[in-house]
Amino acid sequence: MKQLNPSVQPHLHRIVIVGGGAGGLELATRLGQSLGKRGQAQVILIDAALTHIWKPLLHEVAAGTINSYEDELNYFAHASKHHFEFHLGRMCDIDREQKQVVLEPLSNGESVVIAPERRVRYDTLVVAVGSTSNDFGTAGARENCIFLDARPQADRFQREFLSLYLQAQARSLSDQNPQFLNIAIIGAGATGVELAAELHHAAHELPRYGLTSIDPRNVNITLIEAAERILPGLPPQTSHTAERELKKMGINVMTSRRVVAISPDGIECDGDIHIPANLKVWSAGIKAPDFLKNIAGLETNRINQLVVGPSLQTTLDADIFAMGDCASYIPEGETRPIPPRAQVANQQSILLAKSMKARLNGQPLPHFKFTDKGSLVSLSQKNSVGNLMGDINVQGIIARLMYVSLYRLHQVAIHGFFKTAVLMTKDLLSRSSGPRLKLH
Ligand SMILES: Cc1cc2nc3c(=O)[nH]c(=O)nc-3n(C[C@H](O)[C@H](O)[C@H](O)COP(=O)(O)OP(=O)(O)OC[C@H]3O[C@@H](n4cnc5c(N)ncnc54)[C@H](O)[C@@H]3O)c2cc1C
Repeated sequence: MKQLNPSVQPHLHRIVIVGGGAGGLELATRLGQSLGKRGQAQVILIDAALTHIWKPLLHEVAAGTINSYEDELNYFAHASKHHFEFHLGRMCDIDREQKQVVLEPLSNGESVVIAPERRVRYDTLVVAVGSTSNDFGTAGARENCIFLDARPQADRFQREFLSLYLQAQARSLSDQNPQFLNIAIIGAGATGVELAAELHHAAHELPRYGLTSIDPRNVNITLIEAAERILPGLPPQTSHTAERELKKMGINVMTSRRVVAISPDGIECDGDIHIPANLKVWSAGIKAPDFLKNIAGLETNRINQLVVGPSLQTTLDADIFAMGDCASYIPEGETRPIPPRAQVANQQSILLAKSMKARLNGQPLPHFKFTDKGSLVSLSQKNSVGNLMGDINVQGIIARLMYVSLYRLHQVAIHGFFKTAVLMTKDLLSRSSGPRLKLH
């Protein structure tokens, strides 16, 4: 492998990617395997976490239907195999004059500082830091809701969900009355719908493992949506099918209902409606992380996304690119930006891998054209709904297989076909031998 020490190769073009998620990790891997391997550029990935888990799996982590520790990837190990460098750190600023990314001091989570503020020089910078939930300033949301933005929050939800079962189990020794569990999910986009269905599935699985104190019929899951229909970003047919399936499961679907405040014991909606809830999840809307707002004088929009042109270069600095959920790109002739989805991040990583090569060779940069391959929404282990190519509606096990294949395609992009096949085999074996739910 080529030695990438900058002091040995001072003129090597340095591409720094900040954010190793659905888009950034695929891009770092592609560039490492090409420019990094051939010694044509130094590729550096920076992420605030040590490990990667594909974000669309987070609702399954929250429900305990997958074990996040089995599906995660360690950045250091992956980088060393794929000819790029990994730096652990959280970007807090960009110094455009010095062409440096500023990383905040790194602590070990117990306020011990492991590394002071650091700066990483770049020739080309790609910002791929994703998005966080947008609570639109709703009173009590931050204090009382869980946001499924990253693995620690999904793990926290899973622990709290399990704790409520364990508490009910303990209570049932002295109290013979039926035990209830109320869960409210605010926002019925793909995340909210998928989580509701996954929790319904988990509630029916738990009694198989002896956690019988809460009858699955007493697990009340309420999905609250401000728009007229659930999955408002998808075609109406998909919304109607998904709503019908959720209702069949006994999930309480409330549409055209605006949440005005969240209290420790429930949700307050307009019309003076109170929905009692032990567990509350906020999944309505996204925004780019707050630190991006007007960062380094770059153009950002009202939800903090960096505004980019067709080559995904930021509008005010051609050396800085942005991709995925943290970027806003409105194609010519359209009025709305392309949506924040994993398939967009994937397609942009493919484009940017080409762009970086073109940039090194002084060639014009290709333009991004989003090909919407449709959207699939998981309704738990055996069912999904969605539409393909805009107008083909799919449902059931076929849709579920297509949904699962999206994750496998992400694995192929970062591990290649052979390792993905090995991982699939390992998953099949461990899921057939171990419990279907994470119970710790
Ligand atoms: C529960 C859930 C289900 C979803 N389901 C689907 C689906 O079915 N289909 C679909 O298309 N999309 C789905 N999405 C959306 C999809 O996950 C995102 O669109 C996609 O992950 C965006 O990719 P990204 O690379 O922009 O960001 P991400 O994948 O979010 O990655 C961002 C990365 O940046 C890192 N980071 C953040 N801040 C910093 C910082 N300051 N410094 C350094 N690193 C930082 C993070 O640690 C993370 O690794 C779902 C999302 C959720 C939450």
